[in-house]
Amino acid sequence: MSEAGGADGPLPDLFARLIANTGPISLQYYMGEANARYYASRDPLGAAGDFVTAPEISQMFGELVGLWLTDLWARAGRIAPVHYVELGPGRGTLARDALAAARQHGLVPRVHFIEGSAALKPLQLAAVPEAEWHHALSSVPRNGPILLVANEFLDALPIRQLVMTPQGWRERMVGLEDGRLVPVAGTQPMDAAVPEAQRDAPEGAIVETCPAAAATVYEVAGRMVKQGGAAQYVDYAHAEPRFGSTFQAVRAHAMVDPFATPGEADLTAHVDFATLARVAQSRGAACCGVTTQGDWLRALGIDLRAQALSKAAPDQAEAIETARTRLVEPAQMGALFKVMGLTAPNWPEAAGF
Ligand code: SAH
Repeated sequence: MSEAGGADGPLPDLFARLIANTGPISLQYYMGEANARYYASRDPLGAAGDFVTAPEISQMFGELVGLWLTDLWARAGRIAPVHYVELGPGRGTLARDALAAARQHGLVPRVHFIEGSAALKPLQLAAVPEAEWHHALSSVPRNGPILLVANEFLDALPIRQLVMTPQGWRERMVGLEDGRLVPVAGTQPMDAAVPEAQRDAPEGAIVETCPAAAATVYEVAGRMVKQGGAAQYVDYAHAEPRFGSTFQAVRAHAMVDPFATPGEADLTAHVDFATLARVAQSRGAACCGVTTQGDWLRALGIDLRAQALSKAAPDQAEAIETARTRLVEPAQMGALFKVMGLTAPNWPEAAGF
């Protein structure tokens, strides 16, 4: 069996057979299946993988996330039991660093990982041996506040796109052309699915939504309203909704055609935090704001933390400064990545926004 081969053979062949038999498939289905196969079969992180995330760049990222949660929990009255919940924890690095920082200030929560990848599970167990695994939030206990973290999780959830054609709005699908997977417009009229304010768009305009992201944020907000707690989401994002596709693929640290190698590249789309904040508020949660990763890390004291780490390990000072720069500088990760904070409605005001 090749690396790309699952039980049903390589995914591009599977898609091609499906499309040949039943017609184009939705982009949402394509992305969901491709990422499920991609994450189930490998550890995509690090220099030898496809991409590097903030917690893998420096321990400072996870530590500041941990301190943000601890500060809120402490000011809310140090309620116990309390649950640390992470969506898509990758190698478990963020959780390990966040929990170490939290422990120093008296926060020792139960730890819950929500993860779909069997390949990443052993790495997560090595990083945080006490963690409990879940396939979904529904099995996480309902007693006590939840402190939830999700870094580069929402961007991997399947998106839906609608495209303006000469015949009106259509869903963006994936079809076959000369044996290759290509984006095509569906045949069903989809005008009713486009908000009225956006309906009069020029030909070629694309409206992108992520129903799965809205669904998970809605569920998390509901949990926080009932149990108390706070949530922090970090992802690639634009500040306001706009027209256009942000669907992309990354493989071996380079952008590739998202239709060329499904199951072998990380498929992502920018996260629409403005919409997700409204979704959370509609369930009764409070949004602390949406800011850039650079501003948020600076407000939480990354500069002081970098100084302290460098003082403790002078031979590492250059590497620490390189990591700090990578996380906060606007030309690097500082501006493209955004942070959204949510809290239970009666919880204290969050730091950093
Ligand atoms: N948060 C980590 C990893 C980011 S990669 C970090 O910052 O390093 C995306 C993570 O989300 C992986 O752990 C992947 O397995 C998980 N994931 C992606 N789609 C998922 C889904 N539909 N359900 C559950 N986990 C998912």
